Formats: sequence, C-alpha cells, structure tokens
Amino acid sequence: MEPEKPTTTICTVVSIDHTDLHYTVCSLCERTLPDSLTRCNHCPGSTSKRLFRVLMSVATDTNVFVVVLFDRAARVLFGCSAHDFFNFTNTHPFSGETVSRILEGEMLRVTLSNPRNGNAQHLRVVSVIPLRSGFRPVIDSLSELYGVRSDR
Ligand SMILES: [Zn+2]
Repeated sequence: MEPEKPTTTICTVVSIDHTDLHYTVCSLCERTLPDSLTRCNHCPGSTSKRLFRVLMSVATDTNVFVVVLFDRAARVLFGCSAHDFFNFTNTHPFSGETVSRILEGEMLRVTLSNPRNGNAQHLRVVSVIPLRSGFRPVIDSLSELYGVRSDR
C-alpha cells in the first residue's frame, strides 16, 4: 500500500503501541530532544514540551498495517495534549495496555499520506475522524475508569 497522494480510508484499530506514546521537543525550534536532554543546545532560554507520536496498527477490509499519528491527529483520539496525558499517567499509574484496549475496535476514517522523510517506514495519519457515534476520547474513558472527574 503506497499511495502517491493522501488517500482516505475506513479502518478499525487493532492495537496501539502503548510503550512509546509521546516524545519531547524543544519549545522553540521543535527539534526532538533525546531523553538525556531537558533543554535544547541550540536555543538559549528554551524549555521542552511533549508531543504525541503514536504507532497504531489498523485493519481495512483488505489489509492490516501500521500507521503513525503525530500530535494533531493523536489529540483527536486522546482528547487532550500529550502534556496533560503524561501528567495524568504520572498521577494515575496504569497499564499502558488500558489505552490500547480503550481504542481497540474503534472505526476511524483516516486520511493517510506517505512519510515526508524517506527513511520513515509508516504511513502517516494526516487526519482522523472517529465514526462510532458514542466515541469518547481516551482521556475521558481513563478519567472514568480511575474515578477522576474531568474538569475540561
Ligand atoms: Zn531548540
């Protein structure tokens, strides 16, 4: 499956790679920061911020494959920023498998594009629309599971 231009398809979530859901970038230049760095070497006065990067295995009627969701698309499914999600997981430790379970089986309409970077091996989700009428973002389901009132 190697579309030349973005294609839109309907798929079902098979699983999420819950071991690595976000990464850290410089707040100014958005370079990726390695785990060992909390500040960018190039930008004095910068801080860091977290962005989502989620690998998701999806099934269409003909195929099963892995796609990658960057921050904007992932927020649609998670219902919060990567920063807020990280804080939630810090104060309410839970198995990352819960996140995968919450999203498993959801039907999504996704627009996929080839990676900009020739080295990247996964199709990239440019936009995503959950199709189930009762769809709830991950953070809402987690808040309910852990008895936290959502203040959003
Ligand atoms: Zn920087």
